[in-house]
Amino acid sequence: DETLERHEFGAEVGRLLDLVVHALYSEREIFLRELVANAADAVDRRRFEALSDQALMLPAEAKLRIVPDKAARTLTIADPGIGMSKSELAQHLGTIARSGTLAFAKTLAEAKATEQPSLIGQFGVGFYSAFMVADRVEVTSRRAGGEEAWVWASEGRGEYTLAPGSKAEPGTDIVLHMKADAEEFLEPYRLQTIIRKWADHIAIPITVARDGQDEPANEGTALWRKPKAEVSEESYTEFYRHLGHVFDTPWATLHWRAEGALDFTALLFLPNSKPFQAVEGERASRVRLHVRRMFITDEAALLPPWLRFVTGVVDTEDLPLNVSREMLQATPVLARIRRSVTGRVLSELKTRAKDAEAYGSFWANFGAVLKEGVWEDTEHHKELAPLLRFRSSAVEGWTSLPDYVARMKPGQEAIYVLVGDEAAGLAGSPQLEGFRARGVEVLLLTDGIDAFWPDRMDRFEDKPIRSITQSGLDLSKLEATEAPQGEAADVATLLALVKEALGAEVAEVRSTERLVDSAVVLAAAEGGPDLQMQRLLRRAGR
Ligand code: ADP
Ligand code: MG
Repeated sequence: DETLERHEFGAEVGRLLDLVVHALYSEREIFLRELVANAADAVDRRRFEALSDQALMLPAEAKLRIVPDKAARTLTIADPGIGMSKSELAQHLGTIARSGTLAFAKTLAEAKATEQPSLIGQFGVGFYSAFMVADRVEVTSRRAGGEEAWVWASEGRGEYTLAPGSKAEPGTDIVLHMKADAEEFLEPYRLQTIIRKWADHIAIPITVARDGQDEPANEGTALWRKPKAEVSEESYTEFYRHLGHVFDTPWATLHWRAEGALDFTALLFLPNSKPFQAVEGERASRVRLHVRRMFITDEAALLPPWLRFVTGVVDTEDLPLNVSREMLQATPVLARIRRSVTGRVLSELKTRAKDAEAYGSFWANFGAVLKEGVWEDTEHHKELAPLLRFRSSAVEGWTSLPDYVARMKPGQEAIYVLVGDEAAGLAGSPQLEGFRARGVEVLLLTDGIDAFWPDRMDRFEDKPIRSITQSGLDLSKLEATEAPQGEAADVATLLALVKEALGAEVAEVRSTERLVDSAVVLAAAEGGPDLQMQRLLRRAGR
């Protein structure tokens, strides 16, 4: 066939396929979860593009069809979604487009053989999981808005082919030629059970064909529209996993309806672990905006960047269904929803912070992100300050600003912090000697953002926050347990000698009450950047 093009898979795909196909048999049913999730995503994307192009509108009776054919030993998954052009087929199915999948493939390759199955179950591997059950996969796709269809086909080894095809409507049909030992997935009943388990939250109808008839397989109601009492923990968890492309359970689930001045339903999740995809990179919140159930966009920035780890859906009655991108930018409705949703997340955190252990695990995952809020969002300082947690020179585990203030010594005027790269190093720093000797607690800060936010917050409950590497800290009002000794005249001579020796390397040489065992310590000039900030500026080449 002259029109058939052969292509090699990207190098990572080849390796991933090998691992997926050979690592695992017990959890093979997740291939259906992955393919149905892709189909649902494709339908959402088509709805989104239809906002700016009426011609892409989804037909009213749109659904995902799953069609087993025992005689031909094929399983077809057909969706009316956005579809893929020829180049999209090559890019999305021929290379690993998603950075999470790439990172996962690396983890998988490094894991011991015995650990691989649970890793796959935990993370999912997207489209390629089809090759766990099929020895040949054909994808016929027509991009919505285009006329031509293309057929991508592969046996899951080194290469795939692309050839022109035909398809009456936009969307994607995936045909799996099932392996001999995967015939169980041609039983309609088995397929329905899997759909109910993994995909019940998916809002578009899913059908499984039995004796030529399409039978409904999911409830097809938007989960967040149901009353809380009617939603099971498992359904919440599945929805959370689908939204975030994650495979753990949520740390907190927030589900509420706002009525009155604003009318919206929100279902939000706080994750239990850091996402596999790094939190760095993109800073925008991806909480999804729906209008009357219909997905509109995940680019409405419904939460501030410092709450970007929160996933979920906000569904409102207060916007028209044919809302345009321009309207989304300008409408005051969204600003009001943002304020309300942000406030709700913060009050939930406040409640949950009372359970020190549970909150500690949340803090370890997302504390550094939350601190960005102190840096960039003065409006929320009051709510954020009591939510912060720290390592300390005086106590084990996490502590908070209110707890620190409660432990302050009589005569202590400031909240003292020491900023550096790692807590173990900080705990042994000579900078702490004078404070230890006086029983004064110092908070040890080690996140990148810690060089910045204390200045911005400035004070907590009227107590200034001071970096102890800055000079000019007056410890004399605090009684020392071991007072430093020395003749005043001798000290003056020594200071002059040291200054002469160091010359222009230092601005000033002073005596200090901050040291007990060490002879000298480096300090930053009063009012200037502290030592950690100076280090960061040097690293940045300033
Ligand atoms: P992920 O879904 O996490 O991006 P997958 O391996 O599951 O990773 O899919 C890779 C990409 O292939 C998707 O991001 C999407 O662009 C494309 N894709 C897969 N299935 C479909 C489909 N049914 N319709 C349109 N595009 C699809
Ligand atoms: Mg996927």
